Amino acid sequence: MTRLCAVSVDLDEVGHYFAIHGLRGHEGGHVAYERGVPRMVAFAEERGISLDLFAVGGDLEWEGNARLLAEISRRGHVVENHSFGHRYDLTRLSAREITWEIEEGARIIEAVTGRRPTGFRAPGYTVNDVVFSALEAVGVEYDSSVFPCPAYYFAKAAMMGGMRIRGRESGSVLDSPKVLRAPVRAYRPGEHWYSRARGEGRARSFVELPIQVTRGARLPFIGTMVGGAGVLGATLLAKACVGEPLVNLELHAMDFLEVEDGLSALLPHQPELRTRLSARLSALSAALAVLVEAGYRFVHLHEAARALS
Ligand SMILES: [Zn+2]
Repeated sequence: MTRLCAVSVDLDEVGHYFAIHGLRGHEGGHVAYERGVPRMVAFAEERGISLDLFAVGGDLEWEGNARLLAEISRRGHVVENHSFGHRYDLTRLSAREITWEIEEGARIIEAVTGRRPTGFRAPGYTVNDVVFSALEAVGVEYDSSVFPCPAYYFAKAAMMGGMRIRGRESGSVLDSPKVLRAPVRAYRPGEHWYSRARGEGRARSFVELPIQVTRGARLPFIGTMVGGAGVLGATLLAKACVGEPLVNLELHAMDFLEVEDGLSALLPHQPELRTRLSARLSALSAALAVLVEAGYRFVHLHEAARALS
């Protein structure tokens, strides 16, 4: 039986977090790359894991970030496309603008690493049929953005509703509730982004690798959840994923940062920062140990896409 595990990290620079929480006047800085990335690479390499890194093209216009990513890519980690500008409202742009966001991200990453990305992840997990058509036009092997997780969906809806009540503008866009009808395992998209291709009907040229949810309750098996769950909680969450052909564990550079990295303004908004970094890494480590124990083999997402398509 296939038991593959892919660990990917979205390398969103901290400025994107300030934007989504409507915090203005922060310079952003480069701590996601300067501090988060070296910690994450050390963590992965100690465990023999080669990562998929979803980079935002615009973040690489800072020379230091580009140099660091090129170096990490030479060590065997794979850099994939997280768009050019990390537009949380990607799905509200025109087809032309969406295509540009995807193509420009790919172009910059290829210029930095020498490899054209074959995978895409949308900012904020939000896609639609126009995004999927753009991915076909640009050419990808897989997309990994669809997050069919009721707990995440309703928490995001509540958070955005709360910001509206307080008169603050959130930069994010709520996915269509159709995401909750999407398959939880790898699928070839059909008529719509959330539906599987069937029979003679339309079939996309690429595979969707949904963000991981647990069996049963479909709890989010992502870095923020696992890191904050403690060792016991993380172990239970991982056990609830065992048996899935692919465990697609998605982390963020933020999962490797702490308040002392100059992020005190984000503390009220990013709950993961309330847990000590060492505790988050212990929990993550425990979850990965469960998967290794269950016979999971670490692969890159493009390898999983080929194995499962
Ligand atoms: Zn992101």
